[in-house]
Amino acid sequence: MQSLPSHNRHLNTSSVSPRLFRRLLIMAILGFSAIWAIDFSSGLISPFDASAYPICILAFALMYILNTVTKLNHQSLHFITYFIVAGYLTSSSMWHHSAPNGQFSNAAQWLGLNYVIAYLFLEVKKAAPTTIVVFTVTIIGHFAVLIQQQSFNDTMGVVLNIAIAHIIYIFLLWTVIRLRIKTDKAAARADVLENYAYIDLLTRILNRRGLEKVFTELNLDAEEQKQSYAILVVDIDHFKQVNDIHGHLIGDKVLSHIAAKLSRVIHPNDVLGRWGGEEFIVLTLNRTPQQVITLAENLRAGISLLKIDDIAGITISIGIAYSSEANTNSDVFTLADQRLFAAKQAGRNTIRSHD
Ligand code: GH3
Ligand code: MG
Ligand code: MG
Repeated sequence: MQSLPSHNRHLNTSSVSPRLFRRLLIMAILGFSAIWAIDFSSGLISPFDASAYPICILAFALMYILNTVTKLNHQSLHFITYFIVAGYLTSSSMWHHSAPNGQFSNAAQWLGLNYVIAYLFLEVKKAAPTTIVVFTVTIIGHFAVLIQQQSFNDTMGVVLNIAIAHIIYIFLLWTVIRLRIKTDKAAARADVLENYAYIDLLTRILNRRGLEKVFTELNLDAEEQKQSYAILVVDIDHFKQVNDIHGHLIGDKVLSHIAAKLSRVIHPNDVLGRWGGEEFIVLTLNRTPQQVITLAENLRAGISLLKIDDIAGITISIGIAYSSEANTNSDVFTLADQRLFAAKQAGRNTIRSHD
């Protein structure tokens, strides 16, 4: 059965391609190096950052190399990279809040990034639990270091402040992601509906509009790289009699069985569609005339042997034309149609091509 190439949209809001991921890693390496240089030259660098910065930079570089040379699942690299950033920001903030290090923390003002990065770059189903874990670690960690030097009330004041700010971050990000999932779903539904418009409901193969779309996409008339193809126009012989004798419903059944048989005989790369009524089109690419004749003969013989309920002896006639015989797709088509007419004149259940 022929179906249209569909442009699948996945309900996965992580849209980081390997190339973007590498760019982000370079940005992270440059960002960490710049902050390292600034902290170092101002003399404000803490012992924690003095070792954490180079470790993070090395880890980002390692991720870059792994992304380039291995086939490691990219999502897991995203995840590890995320935990390098989140791990650094959270532990740095905690370290700076712990008793011997005083209250000053550069990392604290960056903590919100942990949630933004998770929702931007991880899959939604991973981002939600990840932010909950990071949030819990952040709150418990900061409580644990602050309580060692502050009263319970002061500690709770700071920790609650962090908690509320972070909950707002997470809530807002979650809302944005929900909206994105909604639009992705609507787009996916539109894709499905669009594909329906190209499928014939009775025979489940491409309809005329679908055939025209595929022909356009294949760009058969392109001057630069002229494609070699053949068009087969297939018409059921005396189909009106099937309707007259057995009724339209049986006629419909015969049509769909014939379409199914045709799609079983053609090559997976061939294009099959219902042009209208009891007429079908096969487009076959890059085949020698001998191969095309063999295909047509297989189609003709296959249908003539078909038995649908107690109906047997249904035959088809086929007209064939090749891309080498005319300049445009539409001229090839006209030629194939004329040869179909010749096949009918010759008594039906037969094939006509250029010889
Ligand atoms: P020929 O060998 O010359 O092609 O004869 P034919 O009877 O097949 O051709 P004709 O054009 O006279 O008749 C085509 C018939 O196909 C008439 C029409 O009722 C029938 N037909 C077209 N579409 C459908 C359909 O969707 N369902 C059914 N049951 N019949 C259809
Ligand atoms: Mg017919
Ligand atoms: Mg016809």
